[in-house]
Amino acid sequence: MYDKLIQITSKSNVMVNELLKNHTYTRLGGKADFYVTPETYEQVQEVIRLANQENIAFTMLGNGSNLIVKDGGIRGIVMNLQKLSDIKTVGNTIIAQSGARIIDTSREALKEELTGLEFACGIPGSVGGALFMNAGAYGGEIKDVLTSTVVVDREGEILTLTADQLDLAYRTSNIPENGYIVLEATFTLEAGEYDAIKEVMDDLTNRRETKQPLEYPSCGSVFKRPPGHFAGKLIQDSELQGMQIGGAQVSLKHAGFIVNKDDATAKEYIDLIKYVQKTVKEKFDVKLEREVKIIGEELA
Ligand code: FAD
Repeated sequence: MYDKLIQITSKSNVMVNELLKNHTYTRLGGKADFYVTPETYEQVQEVIRLANQENIAFTMLGNGSNLIVKDGGIRGIVMNLQKLSDIKTVGNTIIAQSGARIIDTSREALKEELTGLEFACGIPGSVGGALFMNAGAYGGEIKDVLTSTVVVDREGEILTLTADQLDLAYRTSNIPENGYIVLEATFTLEAGEYDAIKEVMDDLTNRRETKQPLEYPSCGSVFKRPPGHFAGKLIQDSELQGMQIGGAQVSLKHAGFIVNKDDATAKEYIDLIKYVQKTVKEKFDVKLEREVKIIGEELA
């Protein structure tokens, strides 16, 4: 498999037994058998076709900011598009490749005096991950600004889709069920004024820095907002703040976050998530649905 992968990409784009805790915001996760970073759309297509032909498992990893990879790691191929990260502006639209950071895309909008992407200025995901999750914050979401996207399907074919075709809704899309790999996204924005856009971005950044435990590794909000409630408030009222399993802790700064305070294992982090869900269900009869994705295998 290694030889075939380096033929498609190159030696510098294929790592064997790559430790995934080095690629996730939570600093959790065992090894990937093959960690591949293609540099062209054709290489992405060929890697998918190879995985199909050889019947090898295939997983996409963006910036790893909404993922917990289990301690046993991921079998087969893990693909990351960080080397496809161009961002360009054409009139009122920004076309960003999947591996670009959504933060950098919002900075490009500021530079070009385009308004609409301010909400994304502190979301640490890639463009691909942001579409997959329909990422959003402070009243804005990807759905508001995305007009079209270029994806590769399960057979390795490139398709151009309108935003509507992704069924974007609160922190979901149909990308997983269709097995699409996002290659690029087109955002349509409106003309704005540099100072006004910057003021909003500075305010949102300031709010994040004061309220979120950015000093520790985490996956951001662990849970979706349950209808009629706030996850953080329910967790706080369950007196779970500061609760720790191993090195994983319910953040003292923001109860909706679980931080990797002291070299946690994925198992400890996941056990703490389950404990929080169980406690909130018992106390308030509210089901906390996970926003963060959990992938990979347990340690053998
Ligand atoms: P990953 O975590 O790498 O992956 C998430 C999912 O997307 C995985 O299932 C993966 O397979 C899939 N995926 C990734 N790239 C592609 C691709 N190219 N094609 C197909 N599938 C792909 N989220 C918010 O919505 N709002 C916030 O305000 C917010 N704040 C956060 C703050 C912090 C400190 C942290 C750590 C996280 C925060 N998040 C927030 C969560 C996270 O940043 C978003 O969900 C982001 O969109 C995930 O993008 P990613 O590239 O990191 O995806």
